This record gives sequence, C-alpha cells and structure tokens, in this order.
Amino acid sequence: MTASSPLVLRAEEVTRVYGRGEAAFDALRGVSLDVRRGESIAVVGKSGSGKSTLMHLLALLDRPTSGHIEIDGQDAAELHERDLNRLRNATFGFVFQQFFLTANQSVIENVSLPLVIAGVAPKERRRRTMETLDALGLADKARNRAADLSGGQKQRVVIARALVNDPQVIFADEPTGNLDSATGAQVEDILFGLQRQRGITLVLVTHDAQLAARCDRAITIADGLITTGGAPGAATVGGAR
Ligand code: ADP
Ligand code: MG
Repeated sequence: MTASSPLVLRAEEVTRVYGRGEAAFDALRGVSLDVRRGESIAVVGKSGSGKSTLMHLLALLDRPTSGHIEIDGQDAAELHERDLNRLRNATFGFVFQQFFLTANQSVIENVSLPLVIAGVAPKERRRRTMETLDALGLADKARNRAADLSGGQKQRVVIARALVNDPQVIFADEPTGNLDSATGAQVEDILFGLQRQRGITLVLVTHDAQLAARCDRAITIADGLITTGGAPGAATVGGAR
C-alpha cells in the first residue's frame, strides 16, 4: 500500500442525524475520509463518539443524512437498493457483533451464507467454504453447531464468513473486544495476515491502543467529528473550510 494506491472508499462531509425534531441527535457532524486499497485503518474514540455510525455508512449499510459516500469513485446514493446489496455482498466482509452467528446452524452453513446470497452453486459453495475454513484452521469444526464453539473459534468463524466471498474490504467493529488477550492476538494476526497476503483493506473500530498502533493509520472520532487522521486537506473540525 502506498499513498498513490487507488481509493476504495471516500466519505465526503458526511453527517448522520438520528431521530427527528426535538429528539434529533447529530451522531456525525461532517466527516471526510479516504480509504486506499490495501491499507489498514483503526477508528478510535470514546463510546458514543460515532465510530459504529461511520462504519455503517462506509459499509453502505446506512445512508448519510448529508454528504456523500463513494465506492470505487461512484456515489453510493446513485445506486439502487438491489445493486447496493449486491455490491456490498461482493465487496465487503463484516466482523460485527450484530451479524453474529446463527447458533443452531453448523459452521459450514454460517460461513457459506454470503455465497448463498451471491447465488453461488452448491458444489462451488462447499468448495470455497471448506477452503476458507481450512485457511483459518477450522476444517475439523465444519459440522459443529456454531453454539458449541469457544469464543475464539466463533470469532474465527465470523472472520471465515467475512472472507468467503474474497472481499476487497473487511470491516470489523471491536473484533477482539470479547476475547482473552491470547485469542485476541490470534484474531489480530489473522486479520493483518490477510491484509499482507491478499491486499485486503481493513477498517477496524477498536478501544485497544495496541491494535490501533498495528494499523497503517488511526483516525480519532470525538463527538461526531474526526479530530486526528482524516483525509489530507479535508475539514476535520466543525467543517471549518
Ligand atoms: P460508538 O460506536 O462510537 O460507540 P455510535 O456510532 O454507535 O457510537 O453512536 C453515536 C451516537 O449516536 C451515540 O450517542 C448513540 O447513542 C447514538 N445512536 C446510535 N445509533 C442510534 C440510533 N439508531 N438512534 C438514535 N441514536 C443513535
Ligand atoms: Mg460502536
């Protein structure tokens, strides 16, 4: 990754207001950020500062109240819902708490879900799922119920599911938050190994300063604004431009 690597994602003066009228809350107040292919970015900041909101916007899971999100140079607002869903499924992998595993389903069923959504035929689905499980040291757990795995194994299954579609970008929201430090280190090594070996772009929300330090750069969010590490030349405080 270099400063001249192509942009994968760009947020331009993005705001997100939750609720309306008296209850309206400005979760993001004008955030600009460039994400280049193959880089790793840590998003840090206090609880409630807007980190997850920014991740959801970058990952095209939510739309900004104002401003623009671009993917590969295209404004996401110009995409129809169906194309957006297809693009998201083909381009992104998610390691999010709210996309946790289906407890009663097997590891294979959980990991192959993005391939089912993409319409991949069963035989090819199985091949790619097993290949991914193998790469994460989970091949022997393929038939286990997700509920019967340890915390670290579950998180590796979540990473396998994020990877099975060969995504360009992995979004992870506190990927090591619920793990003991040894297991957390293992999960980190997997994520950075993917960045190095496959050129996958990583966008990670974390409270962990050591994890943030391993990333190519960190951006800090406070009260809905990027206070350090935003796009060069972009307004980072109060939209002062
Ligand atoms: P972080 O991930 O940094 O903890 P979030 O992005 O989840 O912060 O939330 C930013 C702010 O927006 C918080 O004050 C939170 O309470 C508020 N918020 C988040 N989601 C919603 C929602 N769906 N409706 C109303 N307020 C929300
Ligand atoms: Mg959050």
